[in-house]
Amino acid sequence: MLDADFFRRWMTATAVSVEHEAERLTALDSPIGDADHGSNLQRGFRAVATVLEKDEPGTPGAVLTLAGRQLISTVGGASGPLYGTLLRRTGKALGDAAEVDEQEFAQALRTGVDAVMQLGGAAPGDKTMIDALLPAVDALGQSFAAARSAAEEGAQATTPLQARKGRASYLGERSIGHQDPGATSSALLIAALAETAGE
Ligand code: ADP
Ligand code: MG
Repeated sequence: MLDADFFRRWMTATAVSVEHEAERLTALDSPIGDADHGSNLQRGFRAVATVLEKDEPGTPGAVLTLAGRQLISTVGGASGPLYGTLLRRTGKALGDAAEVDEQEFAQALRTGVDAVMQLGGAAPGDKTMIDALLPAVDALGQSFAAARSAAEEGAQATTPLQARKGRASYLGERSIGHQDPGATSSALLIAALAETAGE
């Protein structure tokens, strides 16, 4: 079973990973964006780590809802509201249970990913974070490790795609040949999840 502490550790592990990878995320956002994805997420997840330490929410749902709200209020770019919605809606779907099992979590995360697709209007193949998140959710029924591999493969598979959503879509065909920064950070989020689960 997964408790509030598990979800807190997931968010903290994500914050650590974002610190390590911020430069790479910003570098990926340079040719097909405005070179701020790493610093956007760094600001956001630092704030998440701080608020979770201060407020100590007691349920999985409350941890993710608070983390999501914090991302929305601290990240200016497109990714803030999108990641914020992902975590908030996943948290809301978990309700106020003290512990959730992996299947319940997988279902909740699917609700969160659906909400991101609704908010941003992106479909699979549009070269966005959805290309890492959706395969991860599909694989989560199997294991956390399978979700991690699926997200990483999904992120890498964005390279030959032409962007149809977000800033990169303004480049048209010139967006081809670059890995999407948001899909890359989504793979980090899911890798942190697997790491937290000990996989
Ligand atoms: P901004 O584009 O405002 O500078 P970021 O650089 O932080 O924001 O985030 C860019 C990432 O956000 C993209 O790489 C992409 O994965 C994701 N993104 C942008 N627009 C959308 C959208 N409509 N739906 C899903 N993801 C999106
Ligand atoms: Mg950007």
